[in-house]
Amino acid sequence: MQTLIQAKQLSFSYGSKKVLTDINFEIYSGEIIGLIGENGAGKTTLLNILLGSYKADGQLHVFGRQPGNKLNKALIGVMPQNDMRLQSVTVADLLTEVAACYETSLNPKEVLRDLQLSDLARMRLTRLSGGQLRRVSFAIALISNPEVLFLDEPTVGLDVNARQDFWRRIALLKQQGKTIVIINHYLNEIEDVADRILIMKNGQFVFQGSLGQLQQNFRQVKMTFQTRLPFSHFQSLPAVIKSDQTADSIQLVTT
Ligand code: ADP
Repeated sequence: MQTLIQAKQLSFSYGSKKVLTDINFEIYSGEIIGLIGENGAGKTTLLNILLGSYKADGQLHVFGRQPGNKLNKALIGVMPQNDMRLQSVTVADLLTEVAACYETSLNPKEVLRDLQLSDLARMRLTRLSGGQLRRVSFAIALISNPEVLFLDEPTVGLDVNARQDFWRRIALLKQQGKTIVIINHYLNEIEDVADRILIMKNGQFVFQGSLGQLQQNFRQVKMTFQTRLPFSHFQSLPAVIKSDQTADSIQLVTT
């Protein structure tokens, strides 16, 4: 398998606050990676470093190049983080505008149709709900037909149907050979599609491997959410997952 991303001894601080410490990992072509970790662990910071938005210490190659290299731009799809709702453009116009930036772009109409978003095409972003904005962000991530997708909590605010639809779409993208890194708080959502799971705690990886290896090594992955309800993987998985919680703590429990 081809190595797309290689990181050695990556460290990063915001001023005097150290957020990532000596991180090592590789991401291979065609993999789906679940990046899991409690709030503030450093997941979003890491994605920003991979995009070249922040410069970390250590060695990092993305497509064999320095992160942020302009040749990487069309190869990486990201969901916009800024508050899109402030823009009064329509969904279709925004997608057309973004598509015009890349030679490899897909047809915006087709992307909207594939994601079952055609009904939103003429709506202005200011009128969309949180879940609808999330789905439009996903369309933006896909528009350049990138090789790699970085998705930061893509299912926040989605209802159960949209959520299932999203995971089906990820499975299809996997079939097409795309490489996808998904930050998600819910292991049980990601376990069906992820080839490997990376668990981050306090700016370091405490686990990297397949779900099988995770289950072999640990009896439980205990996550506590803002509601303070304990939520334990490998025991009883809840059928309906509340969407907008973020993990306060994550604990790997050995046997
Ligand atoms: P996660 O995505 O895992 O929740 P983040 O990467 O967003 O974690 O944040 C990691 C740590 O860095 C947190 O303690 C957060 O408060 C801090 N942090 C994030 N962004 C900034 C910033 N722009 N300036 C200073 N500290 C930040």
